[in-house]
Amino acid sequence: MSLKKRLLDIYHTLAFRLTLWYAGIFMLSACLAFFFFYLLITSVIRQQTDQAFLSEVRTFSSILSGQGPEAVKRQAFIQAQAAGEKKIFFRLLHITGQLFSSSNMSYWQDIGINREAVKQLLESRVPIFDTINIPDRKHKIRVLYAIIGPGMILQLGQSMENHTRIIEVFRKVFITTMVILFAVAVVVGWFMARRALVGVETVTRTARRISDGSLEQRVPVNKRADEIDQLALTFNQMLDRIENLVNGIKEMSDNIAHDLKSPITRIRGTAEVSLTSGSSLKDYESMAAGTIEECDRLLDMINTMLFISRTEAGVNQLDCRQLDIAKLVHDACDIFQSTAEDKGITMVCGEFENISIYGDVRLIQRMVANLLDNAIKYTPAHGRIELSVAAAGDQAVRITVKDNGMGISGNDIDHIFERFYRCDPSRSQAGTGLGLSFARAAARAHGGDITVTSEIDRGSTFVVVLPKQAG
Ligand code: ADP
Repeated sequence: MSLKKRLLDIYHTLAFRLTLWYAGIFMLSACLAFFFFYLLITSVIRQQTDQAFLSEVRTFSSILSGQGPEAVKRQAFIQAQAAGEKKIFFRLLHITGQLFSSSNMSYWQDIGINREAVKQLLESRVPIFDTINIPDRKHKIRVLYAIIGPGMILQLGQSMENHTRIIEVFRKVFITTMVILFAVAVVVGWFMARRALVGVETVTRTARRISDGSLEQRVPVNKRADEIDQLALTFNQMLDRIENLVNGIKEMSDNIAHDLKSPITRIRGTAEVSLTSGSSLKDYESMAAGTIEECDRLLDMINTMLFISRTEAGVNQLDCRQLDIAKLVHDACDIFQSTAEDKGITMVCGEFENISIYGDVRLIQRMVANLLDNAIKYTPAHGRIELSVAAAGDQAVRITVKDNGMGISGNDIDHIFERFYRCDPSRSQAGTGLGLSFARAAARAHGGDITVTSEIDRGSTFVVVLPKQAG
């Protein structure tokens, strides 16, 4: 990969943008902090200068009142010499603004008397400060006008050299600090962004491996439970679900291949026999009838399988309405009564209180029919089947189908709800192995479930719990 491409790749990364944001915000905050610090320093320095000026004014005023104007003149001269004549100057003015006396002004020729400031002073009688910026001079000049006694004004000026020096130092510190801070911000920002995004990269890597074909890959989840861990957890849950669906589809296609092969082979066999040995119209008619019957069974199986798969995948739309579950179970009991009697089985369906639930009538009818059909199939003659419907708390209803038939072994009981699973002793009975899978899918589609307890040779009890309002 060329350097340009690599740089472009980095430029397009989220980590790079996060780093820029982080460094930008960091620098902006630092600039703001420096700016406020600068304001504070300059204002403190100015205040100090002004305070020193005012203290000079007080000294001059007391000399004037105590010793007279000549003493003030001397004082101005001495003060300027002591502080440095290029640093400070004094001018003593008459109230009219005319010059009375001054310190050595050879360095300060260009500093005149601000008539406007004098006017303001005479009006307000409060000291007036002024800052003068002369282009040829390196430093600004701070000037004060104050009345120091009857008829006398003091003009006092001082170069703001110290002020400029401090700002110069401040600027150097600012630039150096900013360069260091920028480097630190970029390094820390990049480190933090990489750390935050490492989880996302793990998810991306796992997704890439999955798209290469290994669906069993999972993203490692840390114990921190932060946003990235939540993402990893959700991603893993999604993979679990996809894996289940894919396995379900695989299993279903295996089942289809295995369980639909026999009826198709039978249909083909009957057709072949009729073709080779059938001689009369009657033979062909019976072959056609057999074929239709087998095809119906096949269609029924395929529809049931589709229903179960769609329900398990959560894509089945229920046709729900209010229904009386006690009446529904009674009706089913009436329908199966004669089959049970034919086999010498007693079917007991007591009187239940009316319980209204919200559900899909056709699904619930078929679920109850499957349970009853099984109870009759797997209970020998003179057996007994009991049905009951009762409220299960305020929100649910319980349907129980109990028989004293052949029962189910401990090894089988965990598998009877699987598609096409049939216990060995049942192989002699007609069946597809889809009845209970259908019943469980129907119960779950309503937000309920179905459970079983059983004992070999003593019988089985199937309990369906359905919520009154399908969830
Ligand atoms: P089938 O078409 O075989 O009845 P089901 O899915 O309805 O398929 O039932 C699966 C298996 O569970 C049956 O083959 C049978 O072995 C067992 N089974 C179901 N109901 C009962 C029952 N009431 N008593 C004993 N065994 C049962």
